[in-house]
Amino acid sequence: MSRFHMASQILGLEEEIYNVLKNPARQVIVSLPVTMDDGSIKVFEGYRVIHSTILGPSKGGIRFDPHVNLDEVKALAAWMTWKCAVVDIPYGGAKGGVTCNPREMSTGEIERLMRAYTQAMADVFGPDRDIPAPDMGTGPREMAWLMDQFSRNQGMTTHAVVTGKPLVMGGSLGRTEATGRGVMVSSMAAMEKLKINPYKATCAVQGFGNVGSWAASLLHERGLIVQAISDLSGAYYNEKGIDIGAGIKFRETNKGTLEGFDGAEKITNENLLTLPVVLLVPAATEDVITHSNAANIQAKLIVEGANGPTSSKADNIINEKGIVVVPDILANAGGVTVSYFEWVQNRLGYKWTADRVNRRSDRIMKDAFMNVYKTAQNYKVPMRIAAYMVAIDKVSKTYKYRGGY
Ligand code: NAD
Repeated sequence: MSRFHMASQILGLEEEIYNVLKNPARQVIVSLPVTMDDGSIKVFEGYRVIHSTILGPSKGGIRFDPHVNLDEVKALAAWMTWKCAVVDIPYGGAKGGVTCNPREMSTGEIERLMRAYTQAMADVFGPDRDIPAPDMGTGPREMAWLMDQFSRNQGMTTHAVVTGKPLVMGGSLGRTEATGRGVMVSSMAAMEKLKINPYKATCAVQGFGNVGSWAASLLHERGLIVQAISDLSGAYYNEKGIDIGAGIKFRETNKGTLEGFDGAEKITNENLLTLPVVLLVPAATEDVITHSNAANIQAKLIVEGANGPTSSKADNIINEKGIVVVPDILANAGGVTVSYFEWVQNRLGYKWTADRVNRRSDRIMKDAFMNVYKTAQNYKVPMRIAAYMVAIDKVSKTYKYRGGY
């Protein structure tokens, strides 16, 4: 909110438009009775918040997590509006969730919950209305159940109601690597502007899940020396560069963790953030760069793979140090961009090659980067504020053209 507020002020956004964009368009709360494996009936609470449909049907993930609550879902829905607007795809923003702990539920229980949630949202979801996707605690399997349940209601297969589906049933090639790839494209574009030669530039990547491992791998492919990677088990440092392919193989054969990875020296996640590298990619979780460690960051460039890795207090310290930050709503928008391509392919009834998906998403990411960079230069503001300005400007102008009551 503080960043939205600041960007709105610099843009000189009228108060009434500010109020329109501040409030979610629709909030739906549902109660979901589900029969558990032991025969008992448990009632779960589910949410779907549509922040905006000004640019098009709303788009956003579904989270299954014990901490899900309406306030969190509202904040995440607004975030989606800005993310879609900054990369200029014709979507508004939404988010959904169910307060539950999928780790303690059987596959059957999760399936029934997902179907109950979809059924309860039957008049919310739709290929031209609101298009969900996976988020924490959900994946392609859950999206397949959602698509099936929605299609049963419609009496026809409706692929385009949801993205992040398995490849065999309308998922898109290139989706798995899309976010990490966008992080790489943003990093390369930023280095070009900063006149940093990427060849042998050093880099540290926090988080070695979907986003982090793809970003590390693609940056390595472009000639950067990835000196550190990390996950929940700790961080792994090698001054000469880590063999990312070996890290991925190790993780795959080691229950998904880097614990015991011997291609490097073990350091802490906190140390990783303050290494003297050129590029730092936080791609793990939120609030890792805070007012207590921001002053010690030595990187010249931070490209945010994760959502919200930098606290707003840390922003000021980082800006004063002259570190360039490519913000999350821009840097990790490669994921939603390829989700959009999945929807486009579903609607065309056609499948693109991985090469076509990559070329088109690279172009969108590069154009969005240039647009935000130019705005930052023109207004002499950090790229984070510039990204919000680009997004708010687009949504508010569209709102004015469309008109209200
Ligand atoms: P993931 O679960 O695949 O991977 C997360 C990785 O971070 C794991 O290696 C985990 O061990 C590590 N990690 C978690 N907490 C950590 C901590 N405190 N310190 C160090 N490492 C930690 O998740 P992901 O899909 O790669 O998402 C990572 C971030 O990127 C999240 O903030 C997510 O919201 C954001 N994001 C993901 C996508 C996507 O397409 N997957 C798109 C946009 C944004």
